[in-house]
Amino acid sequence: FKRIQLESRSKDELYEMGETFNHMMDLLEANFQKQDQFVANASHELRTPLTIIESYASLMKRRGFEEPEIFHESIEAIHSEAVRMKDMVEQLLLLAKHNEEWDIQFETIDLEEHVRQTVQTFENAYQREICFHVQQEGITVLSDPQKLKQLTYIILDNAKKYSEDVITVEVGIQDGNPFIQIADRGVGIPKEDLNKVFDRFYRVDKARSRQMGGTGLGLSLAKELTDAMNSRLSIDSLEGVGTTVRIELPHAK
Ligand code: ADP
Repeated sequence: FKRIQLESRSKDELYEMGETFNHMMDLLEANFQKQDQFVANASHELRTPLTIIESYASLMKRRGFEEPEIFHESIEAIHSEAVRMKDMVEQLLLLAKHNEEWDIQFETIDLEEHVRQTVQTFENAYQREICFHVQQEGITVLSDPQKLKQLTYIILDNAKKYSEDVITVEVGIQDGNPFIQIADRGVGIPKEDLNKVFDRFYRVDKARSRQMGGTGLGLSLAKELTDAMNSRLSIDSLEGVGTTVRIELPHAK
């Protein structure tokens, strides 16, 4: 905000003070509204898995001891909803952090080696085939290794959830900007939803996301992480064809 000299105020200056004050009030109100909305959404989203857990626990109490299928089905549902809830709470705690609290530890990183390791960990964990391309060797970037891995993992996880075919990961450099690109040949995202997928809790298909263990928070967290690491995140997608996500990172000269 602009500082206003309090001595010798002219009419124009008083008018300007009024304008600044109104502007501040608008900003405050918008912020409060955003916060209220967020709390309402978070409570609603957390209540859904809790309701499922509650109803399966009561079904198990009533019939689970005599009917083994009911027992197994209930235990499965309770476990997967509890995992989803835990993920959601962890992501919410991360999103509640302010930029300066992210504690980014910038280091010079060998991009190819770093991404190769992340891809390998992912492949081992999920038995999904990933095709790894290196457009240019020897690229170094300035980033936080642990958080870059977390970011790449979120994008890979989405590619896994919303496609069944091979996932392609590429590292390279374009117009002097190093990048990691993750592409899938999955369900894709309709054009009208593309600019909303970074919003907290936004999901194109709620049922599908839930079935896949999604929380609707992955991409908003990815966006916050990229911003905190002076990087850029972009997404390109065609419904029914696939999705390509690109992370552009600062070059370590
Ligand atoms: P979720 O936990 O639901 O996956 P995200 O914030 O990670 O939440 O993503 C938001 C939404 O964007 C998803 O619910 C999904 O509809 C869409 N989306 C994200 N990545 C992809 C992808 N690779 N392919 C298709 N849809 C995607």
